[in-house]
Amino acid sequence: MGGKEFSNARPRMKSVLDKNVLVLNRLWQAVNVCSARRAFTLLYQGHAHVVWRDEANNYLTHDFRGWYNFSQASPSEEMVHSVRFDIRVPTVVVLLLFDRLPGKEVKLTRQNIYERDHHTCQYCARQLDCEDLNLDHVLPRQRGGETSWENVVCSCIPCNTRKGNRLPHEANMRLLKEPKRPRWRPFINLTYATTIHDTWRHFVDVGCWNVELGD
Ligand SMILES: [Zn+2]
Repeated sequence: MGGKEFSNARPRMKSVLDKNVLVLNRLWQAVNVCSARRAFTLLYQGHAHVVWRDEANNYLTHDFRGWYNFSQASPSEEMVHSVRFDIRVPTVVVLLLFDRLPGKEVKLTRQNIYERDHHTCQYCARQLDCEDLNLDHVLPRQRGGETSWENVVCSCIPCNTRKGNRLPHEANMRLLKEPKRPRWRPFINLTYATTIHDTWRHFVDVGCWNVELGD
């Protein structure tokens, strides 16, 4: 017994296959981050293409075969070595079929609500920066309103204050549109631990934090 038998166990090496890859939907909007391992599966199955920025800042796409050929012509330090071939590790892939990775729910976060509502106050229609926006519970929390996609909207601070603990019609206010759960994941769940690759910056506003909301 004891820890002796583990003393020779090597810590699991972090492989290049664990590297983060940004996933875009068909509209080239960032929807997720996955491992390079997962990205290769998507690529190999024909569900995704690699997005590659060339020297002239053009964004090109490669299918598996094209990416393999490109890897042979322009090898990098970050290559996956298999018995039969070497291939570069992509940093961004674009999905061909899905709008999001299957099985992933859109997380209810402050940032995702801002994204869904296009950073626009849902009462006065002003489009503002993150720091001038707030979340409003349409049915106020104190009156049993829950924190859900259907009950939380983006609001400016003056409208939020004006509405207070009232329903919109009680405050003579109107919602621009009925709040709904978004169909696809509008913003990826970046954490401070996520390494942001330079090629992601074109697709992701990394300045805005993103934390899941709870009651
Ligand atoms: Zn407003």
